[in-house]
Amino acid sequence: MFPTTVAGSLPKPSWLAEPDKLWPQWRLSGADLEAGKLDATLLAIKMQEDAGIDIVSDGEQSRQHFVHGFLEFVEGIDFGNKVEMGIRGDRYKAMVPTVTGELGLKGRVHQTEARHARAHTKRKFKITLPGPMTIADTVADRCYGDKIKMAMAFAGLLNQEARALEADGVDVVQFDEPAFNVFMDEVPEWGIPALHRAIEGLKCTTAVHICYGYGIKANIDWKNSLGSEWRQYELIFPALAKSKIQQVSIEAIHSRVPLKLMRLLEGKDVLVGVIDVASDNIETPDEIMSVIKDVMEHVPKERIVCCTNCGMAPMHRDVAAAKLDALGKGAALARQQFS
Ligand code: ZN
Repeated sequence: MFPTTVAGSLPKPSWLAEPDKLWPQWRLSGADLEAGKLDATLLAIKMQEDAGIDIVSDGEQSRQHFVHGFLEFVEGIDFGNKVEMGIRGDRYKAMVPTVTGELGLKGRVHQTEARHARAHTKRKFKITLPGPMTIADTVADRCYGDKIKMAMAFAGLLNQEARALEADGVDVVQFDEPAFNVFMDEVPEWGIPALHRAIEGLKCTTAVHICYGYGIKANIDWKNSLGSEWRQYELIFPALAKSKIQQVSIEAIHSRVPLKLMRLLEGKDVLVGVIDVASDNIETPDEIMSVIKDVMEHVPKERIVCCTNCGMAPMHRDVAAAKLDALGKGAALARQQFS
């Protein structure tokens, strides 16, 4: 009961990339960089194993950013031709690459780190991929002329990589869809159909992570404008409940999302965020247990997975380690109390 996992990313060691940044520069290059990414992957796994995390990730140590880490392997994208675009409903401006031709994969995206991680851990292993709606919102289209058509093309590529990851021994493939709480009306219309395209034929566990974003300023300002209750999820959870995705990852601790909205996810495993990634305060096991207790009023306990609110990439590494440790201890305490 109450298995533990992480939303995905973990901080990178400072010898690999600039610390405490969402978009860090690599500090190695060439063959050293490739070897460094794999070494860092093992450290990320060890950090999680030591903390008692049951379903470990590669900590996204091999990618600079969760969307661009995938796009680098996609044909038909011109990184030399970046344009400024408002993304996530114009919440931030970003320099995004341009889609200039038909999309295709240049080769495998996460094979090296997935196989390396698989060979070195006996725990269940999860890899995250950006979701098709979020990718479509992070590129400028100069080819397809139709956002949905382009998103479906990305979904096909994601499916190709996800199937290969499954063959590499990955237990959980998770799609990160922060765009799901920006374009709520479009989620049932094409966001979920695109996810279905991305998971077609998979036998491994499938998950989607949605959230209100990292603890960066643009997000904090936006969250402060949302009022005392965040009910955006109310619009998309019923469609997610009907979807073929098995797990939904969302934030809970220090979030203004009413926990009772989780009732709308009936039939899904819920990856409940019990670790705040926007604060350096380390949660106590008691605090974590009490979030789980509150969630148990709305989600059957056998469907609760204890997780972080979001990725930990921009955090201090020692803070992330202490938080993972708290996550393991909090879940253990909840098991003791509630099983
Ligand atoms: Zn997130």
